[in-house]
Amino acid sequence: MVRPVALTLNAGSSSLKFSLYDIAQGPAEPTLMAVGQVDSIGGKPKLKATLSPASPAITRELTASEASNHTSALATALGVLRTQYPEARACVVGHRVVHGGPHFSAPVVVTEAVMNEMRDLSPFAPIHQPHNLAGIEAAQAAFPEALQVACFDTAFHRAHPKVNDTFALPREYYDKGVRRYGFHGLSYEYITGELKTIAPLLHDGRVVVAHLGNGASMCAILGGRSVASTMGFTALDGLPMGTRCGQIDPGVIFYMVQQEGKTIDEVRDLFYYKSGLLGMSGISNDMRTLEAADVPEAHEAIDYFVFRIRRELGGLAAALGGLDALIFCGGIGENSRKIRRRICEGMSWIGLELDHDQNDVSARVISTEFSRARIMVIPTNEELVIARACKSLLARQHAQAAE
Ligand code: AMP
Repeated sequence: MVRPVALTLNAGSSSLKFSLYDIAQGPAEPTLMAVGQVDSIGGKPKLKATLSPASPAITRELTASEASNHTSALATALGVLRTQYPEARACVVGHRVVHGGPHFSAPVVVTEAVMNEMRDLSPFAPIHQPHNLAGIEAAQAAFPEALQVACFDTAFHRAHPKVNDTFALPREYYDKGVRRYGFHGLSYEYITGELKTIAPLLHDGRVVVAHLGNGASMCAILGGRSVASTMGFTALDGLPMGTRCGQIDPGVIFYMVQQEGKTIDEVRDLFYYKSGLLGMSGISNDMRTLEAADVPEAHEAIDYFVFRIRRELGGLAAALGGLDALIFCGGIGENSRKIRRRICEGMSWIGLELDHDQNDVSARVISTEFSRARIMVIPTNEELVIARACKSLLARQHAQAAE
């Protein structure tokens, strides 16, 4: 019998991340078979993949036509996966979808109605959602028989108390869906699940997770549930990111439009693609490059990044009524001992005492034994969260078919 396989897809504006999981029935976790990504879709595309846990990563320049859009990029990725797993055929495809709006609070099977609802949410996430949906359409064409599952970055935050779900705008805007959604939910769900296994008491307590990657946000979690996030209506709010500005006074937009004559699209592109670490440093959006660049502009960009994280940490701890654990994840959170050190410096007032030796080796627990709150590094795994949803929704569908 051919083993059941789930394909997970994370379609960005010019990239397609994919992974293949064995989702054999039973209680076992999905097992990773292969992982990879196509970058620079529509430009000079490149493919990176690891086709089995034991094999080395391969990289390949692609021709423009091999990845001119998401459909051809998916076809190319599938061709590469087939060289390793000629028999495998995905019976379920799980998609990361950035915006689930006010209603989607869990993964769902994609139907025509769900697809329409997700399309209607595109104005809420114009930079991400259309690409996510293009990934779903490409997968529907490639695997017409497969179950398509949408997993939302907003879903983990849907139980926010009203006071944290709203803006101080006229009431009608709340009803129109102008709310504080929060993102990176798949990552926070993974971290919360890990915490439940490795430190159940902390899981039940007051936790701040700092997801610090090219996109960055922080989340206050109480007893395993999100109560506040630094991101709001869009994935632009909160912390400065690789190219996104993070929190900004809306008056800046009026200034740019009215005084500088910028169009609203120009302002949007400036906030999404030219700001953050890249804009401030004028050098790069990449933290490794900035850490290596010994120039004042790079220092200033890093100073601002660290300052905003420390400031948000205080606010999120206040929302929780205290702090039992701070957890780092994402490319920067998992790897940069310097950034973690600077975030935790002088934070004993909030209960954080960093163990520098453990921090230097990115150990799982990086706080001293005297620290009132635990500091941890937990590598995140959004793909596994998607694969788990694929497995459970497939099992549910089989159960319903058998009734
Ligand atoms: P992500 O979006 O989670 O893949 O994270 C990407 C970010 O992590 C980039 O800014 C990288 O420069 C940063 N990063 C990855 N490894 C390191 C490292 N060893 N030190 C500092 N930053 C890192």
